Amino acid sequence: MSSLPTLRSASLRGRRVFVRVDFNVPLQNGRITDDRRIRSALPTIQYLLQAGAAVLLCSHLGRPKEGQRDSAYSLQPVRSRLEELLGQPVGWIEDPFKVTPLSPGQVYLLENIRFFPGETKNDPALAQALATWADVYVGDAFGSLHRAHASVDALPRLMKERYAGFLVEAEWANAQRLLTQIKSPYLVVVGGAKVSDKLPLLRNLLPKLDRLVIGGGMSYTFLYAQGLPIGKSLWEPDQVEAAREILREAERLGKRVLLPRDSVAASEFRRDAEPKVFTHQPGEFPPDFMGLDIGPQTLEAASSFVTGSQTIFWNGPMGVFEWEAFRTGTLRLAEEIAAETKKGAYSLIGGGDTAAAVEMAGVADQMSFISTGGGALLELLAGYELPGIVALLS
Ligand code: AMP
Repeated sequence: MSSLPTLRSASLRGRRVFVRVDFNVPLQNGRITDDRRIRSALPTIQYLLQAGAAVLLCSHLGRPKEGQRDSAYSLQPVRSRLEELLGQPVGWIEDPFKVTPLSPGQVYLLENIRFFPGETKNDPALAQALATWADVYVGDAFGSLHRAHASVDALPRLMKERYAGFLVEAEWANAQRLLTQIKSPYLVVVGGAKVSDKLPLLRNLLPKLDRLVIGGGMSYTFLYAQGLPIGKSLWEPDQVEAAREILREAERLGKRVLLPRDSVAASEFRRDAEPKVFTHQPGEFPPDFMGLDIGPQTLEAASSFVTGSQTIFWNGPMGVFEWEAFRTGTLRLAEEIAAETKKGAYSLIGGGDTAAAVEMAGVADQMSFISTGGGALLELLAGYELPGIVALLS
């Protein structure tokens, strides 16, 4: 694929720039609990301001009913945080269909784009209305690039000038280190709850990687596929065959694969459940227990997979890391990967949960790159074309 059109080549003074950002931040009672996505957009915004552009920011937030205003999903809290981070006022635009003049050197934020009909349907009428606001389009919403939505797809196609923002540029460049510019040995670690989310990525990366660790809730479907006992751990009956195929293919390609040898388990899915360790050897894992974290033997084996790896990609926690009794595997793995990064390995962390776990382990700043994209990154690594990238290149 050709390289993305870079903002550095744009002439910006006095021009109106529409920036699609991803301000889809987690909120609790109207308060932002993690502002990483806002902070990640700052380099592009500040660059545009210094270059003398008028900056109009557009994002979605959550999943309000298409085309309806819902104050629970208003971008007002994001506006306040952005004002603090930029140290300047952020103008507020309530309605994308009522175009108002924008002043150079000023930033404006459009209300949640999903409040207006047409965003998720990639409606040309909404794209046309948005296009009248600006002379230049900048795509910097990495977390939304896999969506063919009006502000990500139809709009940039209408604009004569379009560029990738600095976040998208950085995310893209880092993803290439897992796809085309790989230094071996290449370790991929996947975890989290759902097998189906990660299958396309596993299929695409399997020929490229050298070592694969599968942990977390998704690993039990793989253990089940091997005929090993998993008790009442999470598993997906309709994914067993796909899991079996992945394992067969990995074996055919001669890849090193680690599945949990033991788990920290509980008899109930509860924060205060008593943790007990069992192996997955035939006859050893009790039928009335569920695995909620990788066990000590697995952790040791996972550490040996990390050691010596030159490229490491990690997506998905090794257990229910939200609960203290079941987070050791995830946090220790984060520390191991951070230590290997210190020794010179390249490490990319993807997905909101994994980023949160790395933060919890206190090693976020030691990783090579923490992606702001969940689904978008998984699709990129699965080898899919992302609508938001295709639109920038069209
Ligand atoms: P995902 O969105 O698929 O990456 O899944 C992340 C979620 O998986 C986290 O909220 C974890 O609590 C959950 N998870 C990880 N391991 C397990 C497990 N063994 N059983 C149930 N849930 C798990």
